[in-house]
Amino acid sequence: MELTPPIEMSGSYPPLLEEVARLGGLPEVRAAFDWFRSQEAQFVEWQMEAARIAAPPFGEAARGAWLADRFCDLGLSDVQTDKVGNVFGVHPGYGRRSVALSAHIDTVFPASTPLNIRQQGSRLYGPGVSDNGAGIAAMLAVASAIRTARIPHALPFVFIGNVGEEGEGDLRGMRHVFATPRWRDSIAYSVIVDGAGSDTVVAEALGSRRFEVIVRGPGGHSWSDFGTPSPIIVLSRAIEAFSQTPVPVSPKTTLNVGVIRGGTSVNSIPESASMRVDLRSTSMAEIDRLEHALRVAVERAIEAENRASAGHGVRKPQVVQSEVVAIGNRPAGELAVDARILKVIRAVDAQLGNTAQVQRASTDANIPLSLGREAVAVGGGGLGGGAHTLQEWFDCNGRDLGLRRILLTMLTLAGVGE
Ligand SMILES: [Zn+2]
Repeated sequence: MELTPPIEMSGSYPPLLEEVARLGGLPEVRAAFDWFRSQEAQFVEWQMEAARIAAPPFGEAARGAWLADRFCDLGLSDVQTDKVGNVFGVHPGYGRRSVALSAHIDTVFPASTPLNIRQQGSRLYGPGVSDNGAGIAAMLAVASAIRTARIPHALPFVFIGNVGEEGEGDLRGMRHVFATPRWRDSIAYSVIVDGAGSDTVVAEALGSRRFEVIVRGPGGHSWSDFGTPSPIIVLSRAIEAFSQTPVPVSPKTTLNVGVIRGGTSVNSIPESASMRVDLRSTSMAEIDRLEHALRVAVERAIEAENRASAGHGVRKPQVVQSEVVAIGNRPAGELAVDARILKVIRAVDAQLGNTAQVQRASTDANIPLSLGREAVAVGGGGLGGGAHTLQEWFDCNGRDLGLRRILLTMLTLAGVGE
């Protein structure tokens, strides 16, 4: 997950505050809160076990199988793994709609990464231990508390360990969940746990679209084939034009040419050159506009280079061509200002005396948010750092605040009878 600066929010919701306070005082809920404090050693064990199983993008099967076993141990019903590798377990309630709690199980680390997961005092260290070991542990902690404390929630809970959140996974796991009629038609609210912390709520999905632009030409000798069209010159012209595309400050929109490659040697006219481009915005319309500008810039650069080459009187007409390949697509979206899920989590934060900022980020929540569904992404409590590095760490202190926050949010969304 990637964060950007907070969004200002205001307002309180007295009836919801009362409901959250009532739920927080129920004996079953208090028992669950006690469970969160007494079972910390178990949560650490789950977190370390999960982090010790490699789960690179497209290689999450072993960690998924481990998670399915944990769901079975916890007595969840209907435990199943779908064809892309998402793992589901249900805690039954009443009614057709449900509340989903999900955590991505993939990491950014290739399968060959040494997973030296270790504990020193309250700290856990190692790749993936926080992102998303903390999310997986939180999901299991909440499932275990609900079952142990026998909390009679109304709407069913669906627990999901999903694949493909990171990098080239491109949200494929969550995309598949919301393309499957059973889940798409039943999940009313999605609470997504990504990483550590209790101080944020992601309610806006930062969209991104990524492209590889490849330009190919005949190539040749720098002296004897002079005038042959050059892919590197085409790319340069395209970058010059595209980088001048105006972008609005609000909705915040960005463009980046992050990688360029190409050429053979200093005395060769290159046969190919490529660049990788990243477009981001909270508005899909802005991303569409930037994509159009990119394509126009490349086409015009090609035309200009081919015209220039023809003017050189190169013997046989030789041309450069381009290909624009989509290498990533994360849809943008945001919660409606009156979304219930946001009011609920703010009331929960008020009840717990927790301070949290509403943020915009790219997470699994992009998928439900882009479909107009209610979804938020939060942390699994504790503290974490060094995400996506081998020095990643998680500190268990304060984990129970994050767990109480998630549980109260889910119970308020689902409803709990008097
Ligand atoms: Zn993550």
